Amino acid sequence: MSRTSTETSILEVPERDTLVDEVTLHTCLRNCMGTKDMAAGCCTLGDRDYIIGPIPDAQALLDRLSALWKRKVPYKEVFIDYAEGRALFPKKSQWQRKECFPALRVNTKDKVLGCMFLTDCNLCSIHEIRSVTCANYSCTYLKDITDRL
Ligand code: SF4
Repeated sequence: MSRTSTETSILEVPERDTLVDEVTLHTCLRNCMGTKDMAAGCCTLGDRDYIIGPIPDAQALLDRLSALWKRKVPYKEVFIDYAEGRALFPKKSQWQRKECFPALRVNTKDKVLGCMFLTDCNLCSIHEIRSVTCANYSCTYLKDITDRL
């Protein structure tokens, strides 16, 4: 049976970059680390021994935030340093290691202990200006999937 033009367009395969973006979004929002309905594991601590740091471009991120929010953003508003962090999470070993700081501030009122920039929809509110730590991070679960595309 011959195909109509409509059927042909349905079969078009997206560019690889588009495919990677869409698979990444789906995985991070609905199947994080292979767990159904889990989201944004790399942006939350939960009950894991995990820290969102170190952030090597801390000052540059503050500058970008200050420009975006049109006010001078203080360091303490965005970052947790070693002294504060080790006291905040004494049972998490990553928070006892000086080399993991500065860390991004997490919302301690939130049960999942999410990054302060994580939205209710589990998206990054500063995606375009996020730190190099965040921009370069890809978990092995996601990398295994996208490498096969
Ligand atoms: S800055 Fe954005 S990408 Fe980085 S941990 Fe926070 S929410 Fe996630």
